[in-house]
Amino acid sequence: MKAIVLEQRGAAGVALREVPEPTCPPGWARVRMLAASVNRVDLYMRDNGAGITHSLPLIMGVDGVGEILEAPSESGLVPGDLAILYPYEFCGHCRPCLAGDQPLCHTAQILGEHRNGTFTEQVVIPPRSIIKLAPDADTDQAAVLGTAYLTAWRMVFGKAPVGPGTVVLIQGAGGGVAYGAMQLAQMAGARVIVTTTGPDKIAHFTGLGLEVIDYAQSDVARSVLALTNGEGADLVIDNVGERTWPGSLRALCRGGHLVTCGATTGAHPSADIQRLFVRQLTVHGSTMGSMDEFRRLVRTWSELHFTPRIDRAYPLAEVPAAFARLEERTRMGKILIRIAHPN
Ligand SMILES: [Zn+2]
Repeated sequence: MKAIVLEQRGAAGVALREVPEPTCPPGWARVRMLAASVNRVDLYMRDNGAGITHSLPLIMGVDGVGEILEAPSESGLVPGDLAILYPYEFCGHCRPCLAGDQPLCHTAQILGEHRNGTFTEQVVIPPRSIIKLAPDADTDQAAVLGTAYLTAWRMVFGKAPVGPGTVVLIQGAGGGVAYGAMQLAQMAGARVIVTTTGPDKIAHFTGLGLEVIDYAQSDVARSVLALTNGEGADLVIDNVGERTWPGSLRALCRGGHLVTCGATTGAHPSADIQRLFVRQLTVHGSTMGSMDEFRRLVRTWSELHFTPRIDRAYPLAEVPAAFARLEERTRMGKILIRIAHPN
């Protein structure tokens, strides 16, 4: 079968290869992949990978959707079922798993990070990491939910839940996670302020009825305070990192919450501890979401409460071009990898 394999660090180490089909351990499911999506963590794996136990070569790709080829009868899955993959293989019996927080599983294995991933024609995975989709589900849309939208879900609803009457600031709203968070917060009835730059993006977000701050032209925190009668935002969603962090802290209301899931521009901003305790701010780390959050996300999507935004689609062989697109400033939303057509 074909697969996008990371053989060594750096862009030159990513190649389309012919690899053996994986063997399916007893009790597991075999999935024919239909589509997947590109995520920031793919670039991290490609270029660095430190702190993530794995060995090369590694099939890349964290999330995706496919069609069941084989599954144990007790799983309730039968060949031909459409299946969306939860990005984790989790044990199901450690303390975090029993508490329903699978991302913290002591032996969690993330697809495309700790074990072979989804940029390939077949994946084997325990059925507990699969959610069955309706036969007519849009597999392109489903393919982009597993990482970015699941991460966005926990940031918007899992830490300091937003809803009507809350003000949410989303930094760098063009990225996949940030765009998803914007959609979910808007769906929940929150007042959403986004930061972005460039005339196209500003026009896009303004057209969605959002309040938009051009971070290249104005001070983000001052602008948020001006928009909120000096109060600030209840929740700031920031995965930009060092560049936006000080502004994110200053944009918060008293007792406000900052949620981070990434550090694209650097991981060591000033902590501003005095501001943290005087104004009693809370900083949350967040990554992906639980199986229960994933079910709620998939249900909300299948009931048409939001439509994931897909920037561009590429065939499996063009994953390297999709990685390049991920780093372009004009990108907005998710980048899709199409692997096969549904039967
Ligand atoms: Zn576990």
